[in-house]
Amino acid sequence: WVAASFTKQQFPLARLSSDSAAPRTPHFDVIVIGGGHAGTEAATAAARCGSRTLLLTHRVDTIGQMSCNPSFGGIGKGHLMREVDALDGLCSRICDQSGVHYKVLNRRKGPAVWGLRAQIDRKLYKQNMQKEILNTPLLTVQEGAVEDLILTEPEPEHTGKCRVSGVVLVDGSTVYAESVILTTGTFLRGMIVIGLEMHPAGRLGDHPSIGLAQTLEKLGFVVGRLKTGTPPRIAKDSINFSILNKQTPDNPSVPFSFTNETVWIKPEDQLPCYLTHTNPRVDEIVLKNLHLNSHVKETTRGPRYCPSIESKVLRFPNRLHQVWLEPEGMDSDLIYPQGLSVTLPAELQEKMITCIRGLEKAKVIQPGYGVQYDYLDPRQITPSLETHLVQRLFFAGQINGTTGYEEAAAQGVIAGINASLRVSRKPPFVVSRTEGYIGVLIDDLTTLGTSEPYRMFTSRVEFRLSLRPDNADIRLTLRGYKDAGCVSQQRYERACWMKSSLEEGISVLKFIEFSSSKWKNLIPEVSISTSRSLPVRALDVLKYEEVDMDSLAKAVPEPLKKYTKCRELAERLKIEATYESVLFHQLQEIKGVQQDEALQLPKDIDYLTIRDVSLSHEVREKLHFSRPQTIGAASRIPGVTPAAIINLLRFVKTTQ
Ligand code: FAD
Repeated sequence: WVAASFTKQQFPLARLSSDSAAPRTPHFDVIVIGGGHAGTEAATAAARCGSRTLLLTHRVDTIGQMSCNPSFGGIGKGHLMREVDALDGLCSRICDQSGVHYKVLNRRKGPAVWGLRAQIDRKLYKQNMQKEILNTPLLTVQEGAVEDLILTEPEPEHTGKCRVSGVVLVDGSTVYAESVILTTGTFLRGMIVIGLEMHPAGRLGDHPSIGLAQTLEKLGFVVGRLKTGTPPRIAKDSINFSILNKQTPDNPSVPFSFTNETVWIKPEDQLPCYLTHTNPRVDEIVLKNLHLNSHVKETTRGPRYCPSIESKVLRFPNRLHQVWLEPEGMDSDLIYPQGLSVTLPAELQEKMITCIRGLEKAKVIQPGYGVQYDYLDPRQITPSLETHLVQRLFFAGQINGTTGYEEAAAQGVIAGINASLRVSRKPPFVVSRTEGYIGVLIDDLTTLGTSEPYRMFTSRVEFRLSLRPDNADIRLTLRGYKDAGCVSQQRYERACWMKSSLEEGISVLKFIEFSSSKWKNLIPEVSISTSRSLPVRALDVLKYEEVDMDSLAKAVPEPLKKYTKCRELAERLKIEATYESVLFHQLQEIKGVQQDEALQLPKDIDYLTIRDVSLSHEVREKLHFSRPQTIGAASRIPGVTPAAIINLLRFVKTTQ
């Protein structure tokens, strides 16, 4: 394999030439453009799958940069991280080496919707990520700005579609590859906004990608525009923390990765966060200065769930909004005021901030800013993230209209796997809505599209009781190993061991039965409510809040003691018991959805002209644009009526 390195111009790049005999070296299996959260996962996933991969990015020192919040995870996002980890992705493991404050959100609710979250040391994350990337076998890293794509004649089996075969860099040099993945984030025609000032940039301090945006538009991709923003960074020593509410981390910390039992730092050494609130004075400054704030006036859509302070004031006037003061890292002198994303002119940002309790003397070190950028309508990609328009070209991350590191990482890992599978002509690796949050994310994007920055939530997921953070390995690691080849032997063996131990543990717990009075003697602290005559299974006793595997094993040491030796196994058995009865019903629903997903629509169907199926013009246009691959996906496209689905079903059955 090629050792990873990042020396500039490490190999001679071929010059672009009209001469068809021009040298076609270097040649990779997969090229990934962009070293952000999607790009790092894509490049390493492709390499894990055995592809010789090139990661091309503007600057090696920004690989793994957290452009906005110094945190990972949260509600729904924590699930995505566990799934990325289950496919042997990086972000969870890197977070466990870089977190400074771990807290599981939603603890009052069931474990199915717990949100694993941590504040992350930005510097450490970047360092650890770069170390990992530069030591990944088969992965070469190269600095460079990609300006254009090289396209070739279509493959015979896909007539009509052109195929990507490489990239052109800004200096005119070329690199060839079998598949190309674009993960350019907010860089396509990116414009930074502070007050009335606007200038082209992908994010603060980075050039935008203009040539690439033009190429994509010329190829016929439908491009939209979105916006987002980031808060100012405040000097830590200018904040009066003593009068604010302090939030301490969880003890013990819950790691993101299945491979870790603990994180790199003890809970007592972790950093606290603090809570403060906005007030009417903040509203007044925002409202009085709207005329000085171009970003707010822009009609492009911003993130609904991570809005700027301006949108909060406009949408919910006279309310106090939370501002979390979050550490940026162990040695950092900066604090990130989460909830205060703002694009007012810099001097007004400080004026606004110093109205807030605890921030009266706050010093702004870096002003908040907004960014506006092109994204590509994600209905133009398949569930494997390959584009409909250009063969072997994949899109992943914010370019598809999502927001957030976790959403980007999740798409990255899927694009990396599929770009690699495409090279070896193997079937795509698709995660369905019934298998994972990743499946829901990609299905939502590819069938519904998005007109505002899309972020993951538990509420988007129909089968959330089955798709839990604790069981992501059982759902995805085994498939990732067998169908994609992206999972290490060690991780695969561990997941197999966990799966069989859980299955064995559950059947043992079902097998152990006593009368309720006997249970009362064995575990006095729990009052079991059941008819006296019926025996009660140990699995049902484990469902009681007060009971865990330890108390159960104390009552019935043999054969239960052995299931308490591994903490994770004991905790997962408790969770399995909690959801046992509801999961039975959910499984029936999942089977129904899987049946629809199994009904594949023909790939080459021309919805605009086909006469064998009765469809309205509107439905034809929608199907033509999104090109759903299954009846299930077609049924989720807004405007595709139940009658149209029945007609499509009939058509599929006659063609099969
Ligand atoms: P990025 O992490 O942006 O990475 C893109 C990479 O592509 C970069 O390494 C860049 O150098 C490289 N690149 C681009 N063009 C080229 C090219 N032509 N050639 C070579 N390399 C190229 N998320 C939230 O969840 N909440 C928020 O509030 C939020 N606010 C944000 C505010 C700002 C100002 C920004 C910039 C981002 C914000 N985000 C927010 C989004 C979050 O940072 C992204 O969702 C996430 O980083 C996307 O990952 P990505 O890999 O798609 O892109």
